[in-house]
Amino acid sequence: MSQIFHLYRLQKMDTRRAQISLRLAEISRILSTDPVLAAAQQRHAKAEQTQKTAHSNLRSAENAVQAMQIKLEQNQSTLYGGRVQNPKELNDLQNEQASLKKHLSMLEDEQLAAMEAMEEAEKGTAAAVEQLNQALAAAATSQAALLGEKVTLEKEMERLESERLAILPSIPAPDLELYNRLSAQKRGLAVADIQDDSCGGCGNMLSPAMRQAARSPSQVNFCPSCGRILYAG
Ligand SMILES: [Zn+2]
Repeated sequence: MSQIFHLYRLQKMDTRRAQISLRLAEISRILSTDPVLAAAQQRHAKAEQTQKTAHSNLRSAENAVQAMQIKLEQNQSTLYGGRVQNPKELNDLQNEQASLKKHLSMLEDEQLAAMEAMEEAEKGTAAAVEQLNQALAAAATSQAALLGEKVTLEKEMERLESERLAILPSIPAPDLELYNRLSAQKRGLAVADIQDDSCGGCGNMLSPAMRQAARSPSQVNFCPSCGRILYAG
């Protein structure tokens, strides 16, 4: 088999290995950060906090109403108990009763508002839970697909690496050195195939003489424009 063909095979493997590495890095990034799931978790935590606050507000409002009802009952039992006979004292008790009733009515309004806020908060939490469950299910599905892809790519990478090791002995050391140097200089593409009479690396149109020369199985030919090794197939 020709010398250039081995270099071309090496290039094909290395190009594919580079693609796989990029994709594996991307998969690992996606698996570690799921923006949709993170947003749903944040919304859920916020909704739960809101509900907790609403619950505590409602509890306070209920306690305030209850305390005021007790005061009012005490006022009424004193007022109508018959033990207070003094008109001035009775009058004071009546005034106090009116004031307590007014205050109680205000507290009851506050309690109603707190109940409504609690209901709203419960609805908000229920919606957030539903969104979170959807996000979790979607994440599980997409993660399963990505994990499957990762395993397939890792297997392909292993196979490419052992194939690469297997062909290295058939490449003369100076050729391998040239390949490695060009690969480092030309963003991983040392060997370019000829596509539509042009260099597959830079797109430069090649003369018929150059294309003919590139068919030589043993002579290394370079693209006059980008300097890559040409492979005519
Ligand atoms: Zn070129």
